[in-house]
Amino acid sequence: MNSGRSLKRRALLRILGASAAVTAALHLRAVRGAEPGKLDVKDPAAIAQGYVEKSTVAGSTCENCLLLQGSAGAGYRPCSLFPGKLVSSSGWCKGWTPEV
Ligand code: SF4
Repeated sequence: MNSGRSLKRRALLRILGASAAVTAALHLRAVRGAEPGKLDVKDPAAIAQGYVEKSTVAGSTCENCLLLQGSAGAGYRPCSLFPGKLVSSSGWCKGWTPEV
């Protein structure tokens, strides 16, 4: 009788473990698949840095800023100054830093 209870307990623990692993995998996929949003020019952080989507500063755009990340050629890319957001490759802000 005790061994039957023990088997049920082990089976239940196995099911719970598998369920937790599936839940964790689904959560990880959702986090990885989430595309960061574009930085809104009206975002307080953007306003504080004078961020614009189209640079008017000759020779200075996000495209040639040291802080721009991601793949060259993309219209919107991550920027280390605005974590979790994408900035326009044609944009500009006061944080512009020349590439070395
Ligand atoms: Fe563009 Fe400013 Fe980021 Fe440089 S720091 S990539 S200029 S938003």
